[in-house]
Amino acid sequence: MRDIIIIGSGPAGFTAAIYAARAELKPLLIASSVEIGGELMNTTEVENFPGFPEGIMGPDLMAKLQAQAERFGTEVVYDDVVELELDGPVKRVKLGNGETHEAAALIYATGSAYRKLGLPEEEVLSGHGLSWCATCDGFFFRQKTIAVVGGGDSAMEEATFLTRFADKVYVIHRRDTLKASKIMQQRAFDNEKIEFIWNAEIAAIHGTTAVTGVTLRDTVTGDERGLDLDGLFVAIGNDPRTHLVHGKLELTPEGTIAVEGRTSKTSLPGVFAAGDVTDPHYRQAVTAAGSGTVAALDAEQYLAALPKAPEAEVAAAATSVAEAEAVEAVEAEFAVVN
Ligand code: NDP
Repeated sequence: MRDIIIIGSGPAGFTAAIYAARAELKPLLIASSVEIGGELMNTTEVENFPGFPEGIMGPDLMAKLQAQAERFGTEVVYDDVVELELDGPVKRVKLGNGETHEAAALIYATGSAYRKLGLPEEEVLSGHGLSWCATCDGFFFRQKTIAVVGGGDSAMEEATFLTRFADKVYVIHRRDTLKASKIMQQRAFDNEKIEFIWNAEIAAIHGTTAVTGVTLRDTVTGDERGLDLDGLFVAIGNDPRTHLVHGKLELTPEGTIAVEGRTSKTSLPGVFAAGDVTDPHYRQAVTAAGSGTVAALDAEQYLAALPKAPEAEVAAAATSVAEAEAVEAVEAEFAVVN
C-alpha cells in the first residue's frame, strides 16, 4: 500500500505531487487516459501565472509541472479511475485497466469539464464544426465565419485566438455586459474581426453533417433570427468533475466538493480535494496550484499522525539502530584521527 494517491493532472494535481514527492511520500498520480494536463492543455498563452513575465503556453506550463513532479519521484499512470472506495483507512482506486491501487491518503483534483448548451444537436455536431477547444480546432476554420458563445475570459480568449484563422468571429452573449476581465474584454473589443451579438442565446444549431448556422433568440424580446456560420465554439464555463464521488463526499450547493475552511479536508478522513473541483469562484491555474499545495501539506500531516503498522515500527527501529551505530563508528574514527 502507498502513502498517497493523487487523482488529476492539472496544476492542482501536479503541484500536490511536487510537494508530496519532496516529502518523500512517493505519490502515484493518476493522469487519465485522454485529458492529461487539465484545462491548461486547451489554453494558448498563459500571461498571469507568476514567474513567467513573457507568458507561457498552457501545454508547456503543464509539461514543466509534470517534469518537476517526476524529478522528485512522482509516478504517473495514464488511465481513468472507474471506481473509488474512500471510507475506511485504506483508500482504493480502481482503474479502467482493472488494476486497483491502495493508499492511506488520497487527493482528489479532477478539475472541471466543459459546460454544454444543452441542445440535442450538440451530440451530433460535436467535432463537425462544433467545438469546445479553440486551440485544438481553430486551425480548421481558416477564412471562415464562426461564432463563440459566452461572455467570460474563456470566450474572449477563444474569440481573440480564433481571429488568427477565421475571417469573422461573432461573440454571442446572453447579456449586454461581459463577465470577462477588463484586459481580455478590451483585447476583444479592439479586434476588428470580432463582432459582438448582445442579449442573445442559441436556440438551435443548424446542420446535419456539419454546422451551417444557428438560431439566435433575443433574451430580452424573445425574437428569433438565423445566423449563417461555418463553426461554433462553446465557452460558457465548466462544471466540477465530481461524478466519481457522488454519494461519497459532501458537495456544496454549487456542486463543488465541500472542504473544511481554508483546508483541503473533505467529509471523509484521509481524503483531500484541491483545484477547480473545490472552487466555484476563482478557478485560476495559480489558485489551483496553491490549493494543491494545501492538499499535499494536509495529507502529509494526516499521514504523520496515523499510528504506525507494527512491521513499519520494527523497520523504523532497525533503521534508527543502524543509524546510531553508523554515527558511533564515524565518531570513533573521528576521535582516533584527532
Ligand atoms: P465563466 O464562468 O467565467 O464565464 C462563463 C460565461 O458563459 C459567462 O459570461 C456566462 O454568462 C456564460 N454562460 C454560462 N452558461 C451559459 C449558457 N448556458 N448559455 C449561454 N451563456 C452561458 O467561465 P470561463 O470559462 O470564461 O472562465 C472560468 C475561469 O477561468 C474564470 O475564473 C476566468 O477568469 C478563468 N480564465 C482565465 C483566463 C486568463 O486569464 N487567461 C482564460 C480563461 C479563463 P453570464 O455572464 O451571463 O453569467
